[in-house]
Amino acid sequence: MRPTKALVRLGAILHNLETAYRYAPGSKIMAVIKANAYGHGAVEVARALQSYDASTVPAFAVAFFDEAVQLRDAGISRPILVLQGTTSEADVIEASEKDFWLVLNNPLQVDRVLRSDTKRRLRVWIKIDTGMHRLGLDEADLENTLQALRALPNVQNEMVLCTHLACADELNNPLTRQQVERLRSCAAKFKLPMSIANSAGIIAWPESHADWNRPGYMLYGNSPMGTFGGNTKDLVAAMTMSSQVMAIREISAGEGVGYGHDWVASKRSRIGVISIGYADGYPRHAPNGTPVLVNGQRVPLAGRVSMDMLSIDLTGFDDVKIGDPVELWGESLSVDEVASFAGTIGYEILGGLTGRVPITYLP
Ligand SMILES: *Cc1c(COP(=O)(O)O)cnc(C)c1O
Repeated sequence: MRPTKALVRLGAILHNLETAYRYAPGSKIMAVIKANAYGHGAVEVARALQSYDASTVPAFAVAFFDEAVQLRDAGISRPILVLQGTTSEADVIEASEKDFWLVLNNPLQVDRVLRSDTKRRLRVWIKIDTGMHRLGLDEADLENTLQALRALPNVQNEMVLCTHLACADELNNPLTRQQVERLRSCAAKFKLPMSIANSAGIIAWPESHADWNRPGYMLYGNSPMGTFGGNTKDLVAAMTMSSQVMAIREISAGEGVGYGHDWVASKRSRIGVISIGYADGYPRHAPNGTPVLVNGQRVPLAGRVSMDMLSIDLTGFDDVKIGDPVELWGESLSVDEVASFAGTIGYEILGGLTGRVPITYLP
């Protein structure tokens, strides 16, 4: 069997959740497990988090309906907030039956709730566009919207006002403070609880901490701040992408490696091969020199990443042999660093895992 597997330590996710609470002790946490829990396996992660009491993990958030349905079908019983909200009136009925909380992102989604005739009461969050300019109601529409929703018998009174930060990972960007102020003034005017912070807000912007915070990326132990460590060293990477050296060969000076011969040996070289490639989700744009850990030592990528394997330059690592352990990213090599070599962010690597690599769960 191919030795390549993703090891996911569920205990690390709890540790990171506790870290999020330490950053913002006064806020409740909505654990964001969209995109298959950022590649970690949404059902397994939700099961593990649901084993903690409801005050630690009161609710989950996913991007869209199908993700919420998958979790319910798998027996996840805590409330699930659907960030993108409904796409049909049937979604409103299903949300009330399955205890999905709905984000109302635009007047159409508000109208669907106003027209609905649900038996159970709906929980809704109202999103305000404070500057991301993707989703959300205009501030000017809030008063009428609230009036209409508050008059409905089937909408719970405990509505939450939320917004999403566009630039929270940039410590000098003034937009974050403006977004926070806009939402705070709406919430104060209408006496509503609020939710603003994603992971970067939790870590870097205390003023964004509110009744509910919505951490995603940091729960998996990675830094949303584009740095490797810094003030986020109390996070532990939950996933280690591991494999073994599958082949080693020596090549002469002047010989190239892999498709297009993007890497050419400047001297006699020892090339190692690892069975992971872009069809698994390893980034194809990772260039020569991207670090890979072999026996805990950093070894540079050599040549283009192929569909099923990649090559590394083991020249000078004479003790490395076939079968030796490899870490592509994890506790000792952050996925954010690998991502920065590949010109992307760790979110894209984790969210882009294809499911071809099996996940092994550890406590
Ligand atoms: C994805 C998402 C989050 C979580 O963001 P992280 O940067 O992963 O913490 C929070 N809120 C909304 C609306 C999101 O779409």
